[in-house]
Amino acid sequence: MNELPMNDQLCDRLATQLAEAKRLSGCIVYDGGLRKALATEFISVENPATEEIIGQVPRCGNDDVDAAIASASLAFKPWSALPARDRGALLVRAANHLEGFLEEIARLSSLETGNALATQCRNEARTMVDILRYFGGLAREINGETSPPEVDQLRYTRREALGVVGAIIPWNAPLMQLSSKIAPALAAGNTVILKSAEQAPLAILRVFELLQDILPPGVANAVSGLGEEAGRLICEHPAVRKITFTGSSAVGAKILHYAADKIVPVTAELGGKNPNIVMPDANIERAAKGILQGLRLQRQGQSCSAGTRIYIHDEIYDAVVEKVLAGIPAFKIGNPLDETTQVGSIVSRKQLERVERYVEMARSTPGARILCGGKRPDGFDKGYFYTTTLIEGVPASSPVCRDEIFGPVATISRFTDFEAVLAEANDTPYGLAATIFTQNLAAAFDFVARIEAGFVQVNQFSVAEANIEYGGTKMSGMGRELSLASMIQHFTWSKAVIVNTSAA
Ligand code: NAD
Repeated sequence: MNELPMNDQLCDRLATQLAEAKRLSGCIVYDGGLRKALATEFISVENPATEEIIGQVPRCGNDDVDAAIASASLAFKPWSALPARDRGALLVRAANHLEGFLEEIARLSSLETGNALATQCRNEARTMVDILRYFGGLAREINGETSPPEVDQLRYTRREALGVVGAIIPWNAPLMQLSSKIAPALAAGNTVILKSAEQAPLAILRVFELLQDILPPGVANAVSGLGEEAGRLICEHPAVRKITFTGSSAVGAKILHYAADKIVPVTAELGGKNPNIVMPDANIERAAKGILQGLRLQRQGQSCSAGTRIYIHDEIYDAVVEKVLAGIPAFKIGNPLDETTQVGSIVSRKQLERVERYVEMARSTPGARILCGGKRPDGFDKGYFYTTTLIEGVPASSPVCRDEIFGPVATISRFTDFEAVLAEANDTPYGLAATIFTQNLAAAFDFVARIEAGFVQVNQFSVAEANIEYGGTKMSGMGRELSLASMIQHFTWSKAVIVNTSAA
């Protein structure tokens, strides 16, 4: 088979999305509309499931970044001066408006990311809307504090918007990232310039185009480009007063350097290599289901919170592994736009080769055994598809166990001693997500207290959502997202006010 199988419905979907990709090509969004960029160089956008080029987005440089930031700067005063009720209402209207285009946005995202429409992109588009609506509702909760009364003095704090916020996002869940960044920033009265990832700029452009129907011009702006060019220009631009970034720890460190020179705050949501521990008393069905959920196969494992270091107690190791392996074939790999597909394609050749490199490393490790996968699936000559791969017997010191692979690959280890496994779970530069499966409440809370991770779950492995504060520790980043407290902390600054109330 040379091509992915296509039925009539798929052909229609593809044709519509390709036309949309073409229409958006060459454009960025600022000043209230979709505009042809000034850049003369372009980045090709690929459909990773077919390896075909579906669009060209501008490789923005100074001129485009300056124009978009000028637009955001001009919009800042009136937007931040709007009553919070009105700002929030506009964001809720924007969320409702986007909801009307959910299917279209989800399909476009599926086309460029390779993520399956049925299991990932539709849900992600719904989450995008939900997050926007959630923060719209919270706009009126950005309260300062009043201090206890002092003689003749009223003391209080005001929370002020920061100004233009620069947002930089990755490709793995772009719609969710978009919303997590811009919704709290805008609700708090800031304006935004967002740079999409090179691999997934089109759905972002469409969302920003739609936002212009509701929001005042200049409030929400989007550019495309390379990280070292457009991304860096945004970070270093004097008018950008806050940077909110999601991506790799290596780039996160660079962003902190750029921000240090201007002394502006940074929120950084970075990588993870997350432990998933199954205790001897765990419910076997539930643990196996949780391991499968934790693999984040709906995104081909390309998730910062994926549970990629699985530790199972010796007493139930064989039973749990057997259940997990039995569950994997149900995750059908196929054309991302097909309704029956659960697992799509890895985002790029580069990412696929990275996955293959780590699997080969494991294959040549003495004692390591590939339990399933370890290859591209049969029958796919085109596209960056890869089978779900579980590996046992890899030493904890191996890069396969230590590095974030960012693909459908996880290691499984047998343990007998909880203290030893907890120490191993914490022996990582990362600290994003962690999970334990146990029916012992005391053991669960002991784990919760001692695990070094910002997003901890017991007896389940679900994804981040609005109103669950999200973020990591150590090299997984700084700052939190998706909550009222994080919006106030990261998207406003505090002004202390003392009013002398005496008559004289
Ligand atoms: P990346 O760090 O390579 O790129 C992320 C974004 O940063 C892209 O838009 C890129 O263009 C931009 N960028 C790159 N270099 C830059 C520079 N010097 N200055 C400014 N911007 C720059 O990451 P990626 O490969 O796109 O995404 C995968 C990574 O993202 C993984 O490490 C993953 O764990 C992480 N991630 C984290 C979370 C989280 O919430 N913690 C969520 C999703 C992904």
